[in-house]
Amino acid sequence: MAVQSPDIAILGGGIGGLATAAFLHRAGLSSTVYEQAPELKELGAGIMVAPNAARLIRRLGVIDVFLRQAVRLDVGWEFRRWQDGSVLSAENLTTECSRLYGEQTYTAHRADLLDVIKAAVPEGTIKLGRRGVKLDDGDRPALLFEDGERIEPDVLIGADGVHSVVRQSLADATPARYSGMCAFRALVPADQAPPFARRPAQTLWIGPARHLVHYPVLGGRFVNLVACAPAGDYSVESWTATATVEEFRAEFEGWDPRLRDLIRAAGTPGRWALLDRPPLRRWSRGTVTLLGDAAHPMFPFFGQGAAQAIEDAAVLAACLAEDGTDPARALRRYEALRMPRTNRLQEVSHGRSHINHLPDGPEQEARDKSFADSDPLVANGWIYGYDPDVAMSA
Ligand SMILES: Cc1cc2nc3c(=O)[nH]c(=O)nc-3n(C[C@H](O)[C@H](O)[C@H](O)COP(=O)(O)OP(=O)(O)OC[C@H]3O[C@@H](n4cnc5c(N)ncnc54)[C@H](O)[C@@H]3O)c2cc1C
Repeated sequence: MAVQSPDIAILGGGIGGLATAAFLHRAGLSSTVYEQAPELKELGAGIMVAPNAARLIRRLGVIDVFLRQAVRLDVGWEFRRWQDGSVLSAENLTTECSRLYGEQTYTAHRADLLDVIKAAVPEGTIKLGRRGVKLDDGDRPALLFEDGERIEPDVLIGADGVHSVVRQSLADATPARYSGMCAFRALVPADQAPPFARRPAQTLWIGPARHLVHYPVLGGRFVNLVACAPAGDYSVESWTATATVEEFRAEFEGWDPRLRDLIRAAGTPGRWALLDRPPLRRWSRGTVTLLGDAAHPMFPFFGQGAAQAIEDAAVLAACLAEDGTDPARALRRYEALRMPRTNRLQEVSHGRSHINHLPDGPEQEARDKSFADSDPLVANGWIYGYDPDVAMSA
């Protein structure tokens, strides 16, 4: 039976918004994406693509496009001690990852990932230069744009990121709390990076109040750095804010000297204040809902924010396709299916900010021992093994 398509508007053309349009299309539903930027773009930074995200990229039929630029990791979550780089634990991804989860773990450049997902979105779906400014209450969702246009779709999906306009209008938007942490990020040309950073490995150096992650991206031509450090009075939560390489280096003074060599080539690093937002109590009202960072912004310590946005997209599209006559009911089902999982990820990601940053002492020694005794690839099975189709039929 042909699926009757409601008029679906998606605010935000990031990874979550485009994935939603792609999964809706795959389910036989059409949609329109309204993106504020004049062109689709992502910032110059890397992203981890864990098996749960890779599975959905495959399902969208674009895994071959993805694999052209992605780096397949042999080692993941390689935790090293800050002072001397001794390895505390590591996941062997070469054979075990696909044996356990049917997919590998990759890294990608964010712009490439966005392009890959866009390849699964039909022509004419995306409207650029359209900034949503206000959601009006009423029987139908009504969204106002900066240019004065107003739309009244059957369904409105707020995929408009961490500063979501849609969330502000419909959820119990508790103000973000200052976390005291910020993230530095940079891309270092591989020929300027030390050999240990060029391996197909995701490595995390952990130490007092800070940690630093690196992995190769763009077919190995660059090394992506993401570091977390105390923020002082810095509170700008923006992909475009920058720091200096001296500020970045100063944070890791006294750490293994090999890290200083890596940071030296960081150019003009980006700097993002990590604001802390507890899980929302609800995402939906009537036929309006939230998705991705608009619904569940999380600390990046499990590398799962974008993956969760893609999972949301798959589940939301399936719910709307199965219940086309009652979209409000479909959105309630979507929220009930997704919220427990994203709440848990928000909470464990939050917890990592304590565990990763312990000062040397008995608690750190106990942590290092528990790392050595555990198999993180198996322990994270609840994250990597998730399949939206299975979740839908449970
Ligand atoms: C330092 C750092 C490292 C990370 N590393 C990883 C990782 O390795 N793996 C991973 O899975 N996740 C990672 N994440 C998380 C990931 O970046 C986010 O979870 C993901 O980008 C969320 O996608 P989104 O589409 O929900 O939001 P966004 O990517 O923020 O996209 C929102 C889109 O909406 C548009 N928009 C916003 N407001 C409006 C408006 N009013 N009108 C119209 N358009 C609007 C924006 O221009 C943007 O295009 C990391 C995050 C950080 C901060």
